[in-house]
Amino acid sequence: MAIPYLHANSYLENLLRERDQQELSEALRPKPEQPAKPRLPRDHRINSKMLARRWELFADQNGIREQILDPATEATMDVYQHNIENFIGTVKLPVGVAGPLRVNGLFAQGDYYIPLATTEAALVASYNRGAQLISRAGGCTTLLLQEAVMRAPGFAFENLTQAGTFVAWAITQIEQFKIEASKTTRHGQLHDMQVTVEGNHVYLRFDFTTGDASGQNMVTIATQSICEYIRLNSPVEPSYFFLEANMSGDKKASAQSFVSVRGKQVTAEVTVPSDLIHGLLHTSPERMEDYWRMSALGGVLSGTIGVQGHYANGLAALYIACGQDAACVAESAVGVTRFELTDQGDLYAAVTLPNLIVGTVGGGTGLPSQNACLQLLGLAGAGHARAFAEVTAATVLAGELSIIGALCAGHFARAHQSLARG
Ligand code: NAP
Repeated sequence: MAIPYLHANSYLENLLRERDQQELSEALRPKPEQPAKPRLPRDHRINSKMLARRWELFADQNGIREQILDPATEATMDVYQHNIENFIGTVKLPVGVAGPLRVNGLFAQGDYYIPLATTEAALVASYNRGAQLISRAGGCTTLLLQEAVMRAPGFAFENLTQAGTFVAWAITQIEQFKIEASKTTRHGQLHDMQVTVEGNHVYLRFDFTTGDASGQNMVTIATQSICEYIRLNSPVEPSYFFLEANMSGDKKASAQSFVSVRGKQVTAEVTVPSDLIHGLLHTSPERMEDYWRMSALGGVLSGTIGVQGHYANGLAALYIACGQDAACVAESAVGVTRFELTDQGDLYAAVTLPNLIVGTVGGGTGLPSQNACLQLLGLAGAGHARAFAEVTAATVLAGELSIIGALCAGHFARAHQSLARG
C-alpha cells in the first residue's frame, strides 16, 4: 500500500491549492451532530406503506422514483421479501446473450445460451465469439472435480493446554457435529473438518456439501447449531468464540481456497484447430501460446492468486443475470488458464476454477428475471447446480479464448473503441 513520494507530493500540492490546511481539517474531522437527513424507518419490510415512507425521504428530482420504482416492480414487490431490506425498487441492467456454447460435461450436456447482465460494452460480443469458437471446435469438455462450502468458527482459550484439550475433544465429535448440522438442513451435509491451532486460538473449518444451493446461509445456520453444541458440551469453555473467524474464504480470494476448493471446483478444456483460430480470431495458435506464456509470467510478477485473464468479467455478468451472489466473484474469479500449442499445431486451452460459488435454488435464483435467465439456460431449480457450475467454467473458457485472441490480433483496443464509444 506504499505510495510513491513524488505522487504523494503532487497530490498534496493539488489538495492545498484548492483548500487550505484548516479547511481540510474541518472537512475531515468527526462530526457528532445529528445527520442532516432523516433516518430510515426502522421497519425494513416490503409493503406499500413502508415503500411510501422511504420514498418520502428523497426529493423526487428528474423522475428518479419512476426509474427505480417502475409499475412492474411495484406490482411484484412481494417477491423480493427475502432478498433485500429497505427496498425502494430495482435497478435495471441490460442482459445480452452469448452462444450457443457447446458443453460436453459430466453434468452439463448440450448447447447453451448464456445470459450475461452487464453495462460493459464488448463483453457479450467477446464471450459470444469465444462461444462460437468452442462450439465449432466440437465443444469444451468440463469436469466438476469437488465441492465444499465452508464456515470456520474461531475459539479463544487461556493457554495452549486448554486449546489442546479442546482440539483433542473436537476431533472425536465429528459424527455428533454432523448430527447437529443435519437438524438444520435437508440438503446440506457436513463432510469434513479442518483444525488450525494458532497459539491459544483454535479455528475449526467445517466443510459442507449444499445440494443445489450455493449454500452460504445453509452452512452458517448449520455451523451455528454446531457451535451451540460445542458451547454446551466442550470440556473447556472458550474465553470467547465467533461463528466465522475469517478462515472460510467467504467473499475473498485466498491461498487456502485456491489450493483446495470453495463451492465447486471445475476444469474445462478445448482443443481448437488452427484454421478456426485463424478464421475466427485472426491470429495463430503459436501467438496465443506466446501471449499465454508472457501473461502467465506477468501474473506471477504482479503476485496474482492463480493466473488468468479476466474471469471476473464473465462471472460477474453471469452471476448477476442468474441470481447468484455477485460478491462471490471475489473468490470465484481465481484460477488458472493454460494455453499450449499441440504437436499438430492446434491450440489446447484449459481453465480451472476452484471456487465457483453457484446454485440453482435459494438466494436470488427464484427472483423473476433471474429465474427466467436460469430457465433460458435450461438450468433453473433443483438438480442443476453441478451443470450450472460446468457451464460457468465453459463460459469463462470462452472469455479467455476471445480476449487473448483479441490481444494477439491487435483488436483489443479497436473492439472497445467501436463498441463502447460507437
Ligand atoms: P437459501 O435460500 O438461504 O437456502 C436454500 C434453501 O433451499 C434452503 O431452505 C434449502 O432447504 C432449500 N432447498 C430446496 N431444494 C434444495 C436443493 N435441491 N438443494 C439445496 N437446497 C434446497 O440459500 P443458501 O444457498 O443457503 O444461501 C445463499 C444466500 O446466502 C445468497 O443469497 C448469499 O447472498 C447469502 N449469503 C449468506 C451468507 C451468510 O453468512 N449467511 C454469506 C454470504 C452470502 P434446506 O435448508 O432444508 O436444505
